[in-house]
Amino acid sequence: MAKSWSTPPREALRVTPGYRLADADLAATPGWEHGASAADKRLAVDGRHLSEEQERLFADGRSGGTRSVLLVLQGMDTAGKGGIVRHVLGMVDPQGVQLHSFGVPTQKERSQHYLQRIREALPSPGRIGVFDRSHYEDVLVVRVNELVPPEVWEPRFDEINAFEREVVEAGTVIVKVALLVSPAEQRARLRERLERPDKYWKFNPGDIDERAKWPSYLEAYQAVLDRTSTDHAPWYAVPADNKWYARLAVGRLLRDTLEDLHLEWPAADFDVEAQKARLDAQPL
Ligand code: ADP
Repeated sequence: MAKSWSTPPREALRVTPGYRLADADLAATPGWEHGASAADKRLAVDGRHLSEEQERLFADGRSGGTRSVLLVLQGMDTAGKGGIVRHVLGMVDPQGVQLHSFGVPTQKERSQHYLQRIREALPSPGRIGVFDRSHYEDVLVVRVNELVPPEVWEPRFDEINAFEREVVEAGTVIVKVALLVSPAEQRARLRERLERPDKYWKFNPGDIDERAKWPSYLEAYQAVLDRTSTDHAPWYAVPADNKWYARLAVGRLLRDTLEDLHLEWPAADFDVEAQKARLDAQPL
């Protein structure tokens, strides 16, 4: 039997008023007391359930259902967003997943409202959408690097809350995950990229410049968590110094989210017995 969570991550990790990022222990494993190897077994079990639920969601979408799920992944460089995609979303049928990575806006995107490219990437019914970075960059990197003045980014918190409400009302469940690494762990991960030729491709010298702005990022992330963890689209603060824990937690968040939709397999829109009889009657 795979070991269980003592407190499920939707409870243990949900950002509620008073959460202080600066005080968080990012090597902790809230709600999980069984260490790394038991976590792999639990994730494998959760992955099987998640995969079945994903298929049910997909079937529901094919049959006229309107439900979908959107996983928003935010985190500093090296926080492990790619690992979540590979190890957690990798457990379900790739057909059912719509992954979008949001980088520096293109010239065309810059000429549009910042939410336009986000709207275009929302998951279709039946799908699990994954945002590797998101509209939150427009109140994080944009704020920290002063790409627009405060009077432009400040109103975005309310605008994002209203936008997400609209998305939720249309049938999408939004799960927002802040993957939180400590500066020391980030240094170790960047260092590893510089020591391994198979990881050079992941290294971007600009990451060291961004890292120098850690206090500003901390402030910007705190504001995001304070102002946009709503009842309709809450944030989960996932300590990510242990990659295995972050993957375990996100796997479980997704499993619980999908199970809570209580989807049924679509009923046959044909006469099952009549079709069996037709099939049996064929000579082939
Ligand atoms: P990653 O660093 O996630 O592996 P990239 O190398 O494509 O992927 O980097 C994406 C970069 O784009 C990040 O530095 C991020 O801060 C930046 N970015 C994303 N959205 C915006 C935005 N709206 N405005 C400015 N920069 C953005």
